[in-house]
Parts: sequence; structure tokens; C-alpha cells
Amino acid sequence: MFSDNYKREAIMQIVPRPDTVFVKGKGSNVWDQHGKCYIDWIQGWAVNSLGHCHADMLEALNRQASQLINISPAYYNAPMLELAKLLTDKSCFDQVFFANSGAEANEGAIKLARKWGKKYKNGAYKIITFTNGFHGRTLATMSASGKKGWDTMYAPQVDGFLKATYNDIKSVESLIDTDTVAVMLEPIQGEGGVIPANHHFLKSLRQLTQDQNILLIFDEVQTGMARTGHLFTYQSIDGIGSTSTQHADFTPDILTLGKGIGGGVPLAALLAQEKYCVFETGEQGGTFNGNPLITAVGYAVVKKLSECQFLENVRRQANYLSKELNALKEFMPELVISERGTGLLRALELSQEIAPQIVQRSFDLKPKGLLINGVRPSILRFMPALNITEEDTDEMITLLKSILSTFKDN
Ligand SMILES: *Cc1c(COP(=O)(O)O)cnc(C)c1O
Repeated sequence: MFSDNYKREAIMQIVPRPDTVFVKGKGSNVWDQHGKCYIDWIQGWAVNSLGHCHADMLEALNRQASQLINISPAYYNAPMLELAKLLTDKSCFDQVFFANSGAEANEGAIKLARKWGKKYKNGAYKIITFTNGFHGRTLATMSASGKKGWDTMYAPQVDGFLKATYNDIKSVESLIDTDTVAVMLEPIQGEGGVIPANHHFLKSLRQLTQDQNILLIFDEVQTGMARTGHLFTYQSIDGIGSTSTQHADFTPDILTLGKGIGGGVPLAALLAQEKYCVFETGEQGGTFNGNPLITAVGYAVVKKLSECQFLENVRRQANYLSKELNALKEFMPELVISERGTGLLRALELSQEIAPQIVQRSFDLKPKGLLINGVRPSILRFMPALNITEEDTDEMITLLKSILSTFKDN
């Protein structure tokens, strides 16, 4: 039990939160201050890739905490170097800049592209991004995002972001001019409602950017780190997929990672191929960037995520989840339209705008609650831990069915 006399009013209200206070987590389960258990299919917003309080993370945290928690970012530390080596070994990229959030990694990508434009492309600075895209909540990444209303919320925006239409290569082509330095996109729009870019579009985009000498930036903050059944989603676009980790035919020039890379600790990364690593001394930095405690945990997480058997299991569990979500169509044909997604980033499209009610009723369910995300008024999103089992999926589906049943004849 947990004494609860907290003043909720001392927290800025940025999102409607239930009064519940969460106190404990293990695997796919979390517990609140009253001891009620919930199964967690949000997992910190696709962050806790190994579930709550995984043994490998605890081991790394404890070991590193007793060794070295922090050192100036102006010095090397061992975990930072080990994690950078692991990430570059497993990808087509040569160098890494560590950050604390996805938005910060994307800011870094934007700066790197602009710097490259300054140096090699007559000061080109414009970056083409996409309607409904999401890249974070700093001023520049909000400007890069294509979310409705964000263009005026904190006006004026950061200049130089043009919006193309996702999966429409002509819309990209028509925006290119001599000031264009990069195209930046998510290979699957996560916050946009789990909308995948089709591979033909991505290949055309790679060809177009190559022909025009424009950088291609992949924001894999949500789709990276095994979420889609490959360590990085770009590796599944042309050829190799999960069996080899290195040699994809399709390679972006710059990549950003966040969310799942730390498994729950604040870690993100900007990766680039050598010829685009153009930062000079003093041009980029940050107090906590490459912090040894955080990168030590990141190393333990990435090592686990990049194991062949781990990736195979993600794909197996994804197939199972997909099959079970599809079966909900037969269970409630008037309510469930379709399921979609890649790996363990999936969505269920409903015929009515009842996602908020489903989320609420799932939360209130007794004795066990269910944490689930309504990414859009009529879309539920599923982003479980990547090491779930069939039993975890069965348990979630059972709870979800009981909730869907409450909408019968509504
Ligand atoms: C979550 C997300 C971000 C922002 O990450 P933060 O850690 O919240 O700053 C950026 N891009 C994508 C694709 C995301 O899903």
C-alpha cells in the first residue's frame, strides 16, 4: 500500500490524467497506489521495449550506478563508446551523437543537414517533411511536424519546413528547389495513426533525393529498435531484413532513434554516414548527452533487441497479434473495420469515434485494468513490450473483447 496525500495541482496540466498514481511495474503488468493491477499495452508510449523493470536493465543500472553515474560530456566514458560501437556495427551508419529525447535527436538531424547544406550546397536549408508527420515538441521539431494546429500554436514557426503528402512522390518533387537540403520522414507515421509508407514510395524517394543531391533523414524514434521486427525499419525496405544486420540496399543518410532504445531511460541518438558527419567542434552538445548511466542501460537494451532470436520472436508475436486483432472483425463486425501495422506497432480501425471511451472503460475495468492508446478518435494503437508472449496477447484480447461488448446496440 502507498500513502496518497499528493497535491496533483502542483503538476502543470498538459494532458488529462486520471487521479491514479502508478507505483510498480514488472513485465507487462503495472500496479497503482491501491494495489490494482493493469496490463500495459502502452509501455511508456512504445518505450519500454523489454517491459517493466527487465533484469538486464536492472543489472546494467546497478553496475553502472556504483561505477560512474556522470562525467562531463567533454570526456569519453566507456558505456558511451560501447553503445556507439554496437549501433554502428548493427547499422549502415558510421557515427553517433547521443541525445536525451527523440525531439532532441531530430533537432540534431536538422542542424546536421543545415550544416551540410551550408558547407556543400550553397547554403541550402529547406527540409521537406509530411502532413500528419510527428517529429517532437521543440519549436523546430513542431515546425517539422505536420500536425493540425501546430503551425499557429506557438507562432511564429521555425522557418524552412515544407509539407509534402505522404506516399505521394510527385508532391515531394514539386517542392524541391535549389534551397532544399533534405527530406525527413517516419517510415511509418506513428502518431499519425500507424500509417506505413509504401516501399515503392520510399524507393522512389531514395532515388529522387540521390539524383538531386538531397539528404534523406529517417525518423525511426518510434519504428526503430526492433519495434517492427527488424532492428531498424529501413533494413526491411530493400532486401535483407533481419537476417543480416548490416547490408541493406536501401540506406538513409541520417537516422534518429529514441523511445525504445533506452527501454525506459531517457536516451535517444542521431546516426549518420561518415560523409554527412560535418559538425565541427562547438557546434553541437548538451549536458547529459552520452551520460554513462543512461548509455550503459541503452547498451544492455540494444544488445538484447539485436539478437536474432529476439527479432524472430517479435515477428512471431506480431503475426499472432495481427491474427487475433483480425478475429475481432468477426466478433464485432459492426464496430471493427480492420487492423494494420508492422511488427508490434499495430492499429485497429473502428467504425465509430469511440476510442476515448474504450480507453476509459479499459482503464476502469476490474479486477484488472488495461492500458491502451486511442491514437485517433476511431483508432486504437497497440505498442506492447517486444518480449510479450501469446498468453499476454490472449489476456489483452479477452479484456478488449469484454470492453467492445459494452458497445453492443449502442
Ligand atoms: C515520440 C516521437 C518523437 C519525439 O520523441 P520525444 O522523446 O518525445 O521527444 C519524434 N519522432 C517520432 C516519430 C516519435 O514517435
